[in-house]
Amino acid sequence: MKFAADCMLGTLAKWLIILGHDVLYYPRIEDGELVRLARRQGRTVLTCDRRLVQRRDARDHILIRSQDLRAQIRQVLEERGLRIRKDRLFKRCIQCNRRTRPAARTSIRAEVPPYVYRTRRRFTRCPLCRRVFWRATHVSRMLEDLVEWGRRELPQTPAPRTQARLRRSTK
Ligand SMILES: [Zn+2]
Repeated sequence: MKFAADCMLGTLAKWLIILGHDVLYYPRIEDGELVRLARRQGRTVLTCDRRLVQRRDARDHILIRSQDLRAQIRQVLEERGLRIRKDRLFKRCIQCNRRTRPAARTSIRAEVPPYVYRTRRRFTRCPLCRRVFWRATHVSRMLEDLVEWGRRELPQTPAPRTQARLRRSTK
């Protein structure tokens, strides 16, 4: 999905990019400009500003209710019926929203910490800003939480809940 996030939602924007969505984010942009940009490019505006959603031209928007990052991500996914797809993760640069490309492990050696080089196998690079990306542990943990939440919330995958009940009943 294509989004345009307001100035207050930089972290949410980054996470939606990690999940594979196309998200525009500028730390400094005027409300009117953000709304016009979103309309021109067919993007949903993400905002926590009530005044912004009252604008007549801000038709396609999600008013983010929570301050909590996990709740914010869940709200966006829920309201647009989006699922977390593992094949879409980590495909974009969190800095400039460009699609990243696989990078040979040997080519990034000088650019990542030695521990990361030793323990990670897959790296990608942004063609625009040249940054190198890999799956950091804290990112993986957050994703596990989100994937677990998706399993619990989505009715078409009831298996984990049934298993939990079975485990409890055999105690
Ligand atoms: Zn980049």
